Amino acid sequence: MVNNVWFTEYHNKNVALSVRVKDILYKDKSEYQEILILDTYDFGKVLVLDNTFQTTEFDEFIYHELISHIPLFTHPNPKDILVIGGGDGGTVREVVKHNINKVDFVELDSKVLEACKKYMPKLSCEMENEKVNIIITDGIKYVAETEKKYDVIIIDCPDPVGPAKGLFEKEFYKNVFKCLKDDGLMVQQSESPLYNLDLIKNIAKYLREAGFSIIMPYVYPMPSYPSGMWSFMLASKKYNPMEVDEETIKERLNFETKYYDEQVHKGIFLATPRFLKEAIK
Ligand code: SAM
Repeated sequence: MVNNVWFTEYHNKNVALSVRVKDILYKDKSEYQEILILDTYDFGKVLVLDNTFQTTEFDEFIYHELISHIPLFTHPNPKDILVIGGGDGGTVREVVKHNINKVDFVELDSKVLEACKKYMPKLSCEMENEKVNIIITDGIKYVAETEKKYDVIIIDCPDPVGPAKGLFEKEFYKNVFKCLKDDGLMVQQSESPLYNLDLIKNIAKYLREAGFSIIMPYVYPMPSYPSGMWSFMLASKKYNPMEVDEETIKERLNFETKYYDEQVHKGIFLATPRFLKEAIK
Protein backbone atom coordinates (compact mmCIF):
# COMPACT_ATOMS: atom_id res chain seq x y z
CA MET A 1 0.00 0.00 0.00
CA VAL A 2 1.18 3.53 -0.72
CA ASN A 3 0.07 6.66 1.02
CA ASN A 4 -1.51 9.52 -0.88
CA VAL A 5 0.23 8.72 -4.17
CA TRP A 6 -1.37 9.93 -7.42
CA PHE A 7 -0.64 8.85 -10.99
CA THR A 8 -1.03 11.61 -13.57
CA GLU A 9 -1.26 11.25 -17.34
CA TYR A 10 -0.61 14.55 -19.07
CA HIS A 11 -2.81 14.89 -22.18
CA ASN A 12 -1.05 18.09 -23.23
CA LYS A 13 0.66 20.88 -21.33
CA ASN A 14 -2.64 22.19 -19.93
CA VAL A 15 -4.76 19.09 -19.34
CA ALA A 16 -4.13 15.98 -17.22
CA LEU A 17 -5.99 13.11 -15.56
CA SER A 18 -4.92 11.92 -12.09
CA VAL A 19 -5.99 8.84 -10.17
CA ARG A 20 -5.21 8.05 -6.54
CA VAL A 21 -3.07 4.94 -6.22
CA LYS A 22 -3.60 2.21 -3.61
CA ASP A 23 -0.60 0.11 -4.62
CA ILE A 24 2.06 -0.25 -7.30
CA LEU A 25 1.72 -3.88 -8.40
CA TYR A 26 4.31 -4.05 -11.21
CA LYS A 27 6.94 -1.79 -12.72
CA ASP A 28 9.41 -2.80 -15.41
CA LYS A 29 10.92 -1.70 -18.69
CA SER A 30 10.76 -4.00 -21.71
CA GLU A 31 12.63 -3.70 -24.99
CA TYR A 32 9.70 -1.60 -26.24
CA GLN A 33 8.16 0.35 -23.37
CA GLU A 34 7.81 1.13 -19.66
CA ILE A 35 5.15 -1.07 -18.10
CA LEU A 36 3.29 -0.11 -14.93
CA ILE A 37 0.34 -1.86 -13.30
CA LEU A 38 -1.36 0.07 -10.51
CA ASP A 39 -4.13 -0.72 -8.09
CA THR A 40 -6.18 2.47 -7.82
CA TYR A 41 -9.09 3.64 -5.66
CA ASP A 42 -11.71 4.35 -8.32
CA PHE A 43 -10.41 2.78 -11.55
CA GLY A 44 -9.40 -0.61 -10.09
CA LYS A 45 -6.32 -2.22 -11.66
CA VAL A 46 -4.81 -0.01 -14.35
CA LEU A 47 -2.27 -0.82 -17.09
CA VAL A 48 -0.02 2.10 -18.02
CA LEU A 49 2.50 1.96 -20.89
CA ASP A 50 4.99 4.82 -21.30
CA ASN A 51 2.93 6.95 -18.86
CA THR A 52 -0.28 6.49 -20.87
CA PHE A 53 -3.42 4.75 -19.58
CA GLN A 54 -4.02 1.63 -21.68
CA THR A 55 -6.87 0.02 -19.84
CA THR A 56 -8.62 0.25 -16.48
CA GLU A 57 -10.94 -2.21 -14.76
CA PHE A 58 -13.44 0.65 -14.37
CA ASP A 59 -14.20 1.31 -18.04
CA GLU A 60 -12.51 -1.50 -20.04
CA PHE A 61 -15.84 -3.25 -20.71
CA ILE A 62 -16.98 -0.34 -22.92
CA TYR A 63 -13.85 -0.47 -25.06
CA HIS A 64 -13.45 -4.26 -25.28
CA GLU A 65 -17.11 -5.05 -25.98
CA LEU A 66 -17.31 -2.43 -28.72
CA ILE A 67 -14.01 -3.26 -30.44
CA SER A 68 -15.05 -6.95 -30.57
CA HIS A 69 -18.81 -7.34 -30.83
CA ILE A 70 -19.47 -4.63 -33.43
CA PRO A 71 -17.28 -6.34 -36.10
CA LEU A 72 -18.07 -9.89 -34.99
CA PHE A 73 -21.84 -9.34 -35.19
CA THR A 74 -21.48 -7.39 -38.45
CA HIS A 75 -19.92 -10.49 -40.03
CA PRO A 76 -22.60 -13.23 -40.40
CA ASN A 77 -20.27 -16.13 -39.57
CA PRO A 78 -16.84 -15.06 -38.24
CA LYS A 79 -14.53 -18.06 -37.81
CA ASP A 80 -10.92 -16.98 -38.34
CA ILE A 81 -9.95 -13.92 -36.34
CA LEU A 82 -6.74 -11.90 -36.01
CA VAL A 83 -6.14 -9.56 -33.06
CA ILE A 84 -3.12 -7.23 -33.28
CA GLY A 85 -1.95 -5.61 -30.00
CA GLY A 86 -4.30 -5.84 -27.03
CA GLY A 87 -1.71 -7.39 -24.69
CA ASP A 88 -3.99 -6.93 -21.65
CA GLY A 89 -6.20 -9.72 -23.08
CA GLY A 90 -9.55 -7.87 -22.87
CA THR A 91 -10.28 -8.04 -26.59
CA VAL A 92 -9.45 -11.74 -26.87
CA ARG A 93 -11.67 -12.39 -23.81
CA GLU A 94 -14.62 -10.95 -25.75
CA VAL A 95 -13.69 -12.57 -29.11
CA VAL A 96 -13.78 -16.13 -27.70
CA LYS A 97 -17.39 -15.61 -26.57
CA HIS A 98 -18.30 -16.06 -30.27
CA ASN A 99 -18.55 -19.36 -32.12
CA ILE A 100 -15.14 -18.99 -33.77
CA ASN A 101 -12.51 -21.51 -34.93
CA LYS A 102 -9.38 -19.68 -33.86
CA VAL A 103 -8.01 -16.29 -32.90
CA ASP A 104 -4.42 -15.50 -33.83
CA PHE A 105 -3.29 -13.01 -31.19
CA VAL A 106 -0.28 -11.01 -32.39
CA GLU A 107 1.31 -8.96 -29.60
CA LEU A 108 4.73 -7.33 -29.77
CA ASP A 109 5.67 -7.38 -26.10
CA SER A 110 5.67 -10.65 -24.14
CA LYS A 111 6.31 -8.68 -20.93
CA VAL A 112 2.91 -6.95 -21.22
CA LEU A 113 1.23 -10.34 -21.67
CA GLU A 114 3.01 -11.88 -18.68
CA ALA A 115 2.40 -8.89 -16.38
CA CYS A 116 -1.32 -8.72 -17.28
CA LYS A 117 -1.67 -12.49 -16.88
CA LYS A 118 -0.42 -12.14 -13.32
CA TYR A 119 -1.96 -8.83 -12.20
CA MET A 120 -5.04 -8.28 -14.40
CA PRO A 121 -6.74 -11.71 -14.55
CA LYS A 122 -10.18 -10.17 -15.17
CA LEU A 123 -8.88 -9.19 -18.62
CA SER A 124 -6.33 -11.89 -19.40
CA CYS A 125 -8.54 -14.81 -18.30
CA GLU A 126 -8.72 -16.45 -21.76
CA MET A 127 -5.00 -16.65 -22.54
CA GLU A 128 -5.00 -20.43 -22.00
CA ASN A 129 -8.13 -20.99 -24.15
CA GLU A 130 -7.32 -23.58 -26.85
CA LYS A 131 -8.80 -21.30 -29.53
CA VAL A 132 -6.23 -18.60 -28.71
CA ASN A 133 -2.95 -18.81 -30.64
CA ILE A 134 -0.49 -16.31 -29.14
CA ILE A 135 2.18 -15.05 -31.58
CA ILE A 136 4.83 -12.71 -30.16
CA THR A 137 5.85 -10.48 -33.04
CA ASP A 138 5.29 -7.08 -34.65
CA GLY A 139 1.79 -6.85 -36.17
CA ILE A 140 3.12 -4.72 -39.04
CA LYS A 141 5.58 -7.44 -40.04
CA TYR A 142 2.99 -10.18 -39.45
CA VAL A 143 0.40 -8.82 -41.91
CA ALA A 144 3.13 -8.10 -44.47
CA GLU A 145 4.39 -11.70 -44.37
CA THR A 146 1.49 -14.04 -43.59
CA GLU A 147 -0.38 -15.95 -46.28
CA LYS A 148 -3.39 -16.46 -43.97
CA LYS A 149 -6.80 -14.92 -44.69
CA TYR A 150 -9.14 -13.82 -41.90
CA ASP A 151 -12.85 -13.02 -41.54
CA VAL A 152 -12.24 -10.24 -39.00
CA ILE A 153 -9.07 -8.35 -38.02
CA ILE A 154 -9.12 -6.29 -34.80
CA ILE A 155 -6.32 -3.78 -34.21
CA ASP A 156 -6.21 -3.02 -30.48
CA CYS A 157 -3.28 -0.63 -30.62
CA PRO A 158 -1.94 2.15 -28.42
CA ASP A 159 -1.36 5.74 -29.60
CA PRO A 160 0.51 6.09 -32.92
CA VAL A 161 3.98 6.46 -31.45
CA GLY A 162 6.99 4.13 -31.16
CA PRO A 163 6.35 0.58 -32.40
CA ALA A 164 2.65 1.35 -32.96
CA LYS A 165 3.27 4.23 -35.41
CA GLY A 166 3.30 1.91 -38.42
CA LEU A 167 -0.12 0.51 -37.43
CA PHE A 168 -1.60 3.80 -38.69
CA GLU A 169 0.20 3.92 -42.06
CA LYS A 170 -1.01 3.24 -45.60
CA GLU A 171 1.24 0.22 -46.18
CA PHE A 172 -0.17 -1.49 -43.07
CA TYR A 173 -3.80 -1.02 -44.19
CA LYS A 174 -2.95 -2.44 -47.64
CA ASN A 175 -1.59 -5.56 -45.94
CA VAL A 176 -4.64 -5.80 -43.65
CA PHE A 177 -6.85 -5.67 -46.77
CA LYS A 178 -4.75 -8.46 -48.32
CA CYS A 179 -5.09 -10.61 -45.16
CA LEU A 180 -8.91 -10.41 -45.19
CA LYS A 181 -11.16 -12.82 -47.08
CA ASP A 182 -13.31 -11.33 -49.87
CA ASP A 183 -16.08 -10.50 -47.38
CA GLY A 184 -13.80 -9.64 -44.43
CA LEU A 185 -13.75 -6.57 -42.23
CA MET A 186 -11.49 -4.82 -39.75
CA VAL A 187 -11.75 -2.50 -36.77
CA GLN A 188 -9.03 -0.29 -35.31
CA GLN A 189 -8.69 1.83 -32.18
CA SER A 190 -8.67 5.33 -33.69
CA GLU A 191 -8.07 7.83 -30.86
CA SER A 192 -10.09 10.90 -29.77
CA PRO A 193 -12.31 12.62 -32.35
CA LEU A 194 -11.94 15.82 -30.31
CA TYR A 195 -8.12 15.79 -30.16
CA ASN A 196 -7.06 13.68 -33.18
CA LEU A 197 -9.39 14.55 -36.05
CA ASP A 198 -6.57 14.91 -38.59
CA LEU A 199 -5.29 11.44 -37.73
CA ILE A 200 -8.82 10.00 -38.12
CA LYS A 201 -9.13 11.71 -41.54
CA ASN A 202 -5.86 10.10 -42.60
CA ILE A 203 -6.93 6.66 -41.39
CA ALA A 204 -10.15 6.92 -43.46
CA LYS A 205 -8.19 8.11 -46.51
CA TYR A 206 -5.64 5.29 -46.29
CA LEU A 207 -8.38 2.68 -45.81
CA ARG A 208 -10.19 3.96 -48.90
CA GLU A 209 -6.93 3.82 -50.87
CA ALA A 210 -6.33 0.28 -49.60
CA GLY A 211 -9.61 -0.78 -51.27
CA PHE A 212 -12.25 -0.88 -48.49
CA SER A 213 -15.69 0.17 -49.75
CA ILE A 214 -17.38 0.69 -46.36
CA ILE A 215 -15.57 2.95 -43.87
CA MET A 216 -17.47 3.90 -40.71
CA PRO A 217 -16.19 5.41 -37.45
CA TYR A 218 -18.06 4.98 -34.18
CA VAL A 219 -17.67 6.85 -30.91
CA TYR A 220 -18.24 6.07 -27.25
CA PRO A 221 -17.41 7.43 -23.80
CA MET A 222 -14.04 6.45 -22.26
CA PRO A 223 -13.48 8.27 -18.95
CA SER A 224 -9.83 7.15 -18.66
CA TYR A 225 -8.73 8.33 -22.13
CA PRO A 226 -7.89 11.91 -23.20
CA SER A 227 -11.04 14.04 -23.75
CA GLY A 228 -13.26 11.20 -22.46
CA MET A 229 -14.60 10.61 -26.00
CA TRP A 230 -12.97 7.85 -28.02
CA SER A 231 -13.42 6.16 -31.41
CA PHE A 232 -13.03 3.00 -33.46
CA MET A 233 -12.80 2.86 -37.25
CA LEU A 234 -14.53 0.00 -39.05
CA ALA A 235 -13.56 -0.84 -42.63
CA SER A 236 -15.35 -3.56 -44.54
CA LYS A 237 -15.19 -5.21 -47.97
CA LYS A 238 -18.85 -6.25 -48.03
CA TYR A 239 -20.93 -6.14 -44.83
CA ASN A 240 -22.38 -2.86 -43.55
CA PRO A 241 -22.89 -2.81 -39.76
CA MET A 242 -26.14 -0.83 -40.19
CA GLU A 243 -27.66 -3.60 -42.31
CA VAL A 244 -27.39 -6.34 -39.70
CA ASP A 245 -30.76 -7.65 -38.66
CA GLU A 246 -31.54 -6.94 -34.97
CA GLU A 247 -33.25 -10.33 -34.52
CA THR A 248 -30.10 -12.12 -35.75
CA ILE A 249 -27.98 -10.27 -33.21
CA LYS A 250 -30.46 -11.16 -30.44
CA GLU A 251 -30.29 -14.84 -31.39
CA ARG A 252 -26.49 -14.89 -31.55
CA LEU A 253 -26.01 -12.83 -28.37
CA ASN A 254 -26.11 -15.84 -26.06
CA PHE A 255 -23.57 -14.46 -23.56
CA GLU A 256 -23.47 -11.65 -20.99
CA THR A 257 -22.58 -8.11 -22.03
CA LYS A 258 -22.65 -4.91 -20.03
CA TYR A 259 -22.64 -2.29 -22.81
CA TYR A 260 -23.27 -3.95 -26.19
CA ASP A 261 -26.67 -5.13 -27.45
CA GLU A 262 -28.55 -5.06 -30.78
CA GLN A 263 -29.75 -1.48 -30.16
CA VAL A 264 -26.28 -0.20 -29.32
CA HIS A 265 -25.03 -1.93 -32.50
CA LYS A 266 -27.14 0.31 -34.74
CA GLY A 267 -27.49 3.31 -32.45
CA ILE A 268 -23.74 3.83 -32.14
CA PHE A 269 -23.49 4.47 -35.91
CA LEU A 270 -26.67 6.59 -36.01
CA ALA A 271 -25.17 8.74 -33.25
CA THR A 272 -21.89 9.47 -35.08
CA PRO A 273 -21.38 13.22 -34.51
CA ARG A 274 -21.76 15.50 -37.49
CA PHE A 275 -18.22 16.93 -37.31
CA LEU A 276 -16.78 13.41 -37.54
CA LYS A 277 -19.00 12.31 -40.46
CA GLU A 278 -18.03 15.46 -42.34
CA ALA A 279 -14.33 15.02 -41.58
CA ILE A 280 -14.12 11.58 -43.17
CA LYS A 281 -16.35 12.23 -46.20
N1 SAM B 1 -6.74 -0.22 -25.40
C1 SAM B 1 -5.47 0.37 -25.52
C2 SAM B 1 -5.46 1.77 -26.00
O1 SAM B 1 -6.42 2.25 -26.61
O2 SAM B 1 -4.46 2.43 -25.70
C3 SAM B 1 -4.48 -0.52 -26.21
C4 SAM B 1 -4.18 -1.60 -25.25
S1 SAM B 1 -3.05 -2.83 -25.61
C5 SAM B 1 -2.21 -2.90 -24.07
C6 SAM B 1 -1.88 -2.20 -26.76
C7 SAM B 1 -0.79 -3.22 -27.06
O3 SAM B 1 -0.30 -3.05 -28.39
C8 SAM B 1 0.44 -3.16 -26.15
O4 SAM B 1 0.47 -4.31 -25.36
C9 SAM B 1 1.63 -3.07 -27.11
O5 SAM B 1 2.72 -3.86 -26.70
C10 SAM B 1 1.00 -3.58 -28.40
N2 SAM B 1 1.69 -3.11 -29.62
C11 SAM B 1 2.23 -1.91 -29.88
N3 SAM B 1 2.76 -1.88 -31.12
C12 SAM B 1 2.53 -3.10 -31.66
C13 SAM B 1 2.86 -3.70 -32.91
N4 SAM B 1 3.52 -3.02 -33.86
N5 SAM B 1 2.49 -4.99 -33.12
C14 SAM B 1 1.83 -5.70 -32.17
N6 SAM B 1 1.50 -5.18 -30.97
C15 SAM B 1 1.85 -3.90 -30.72
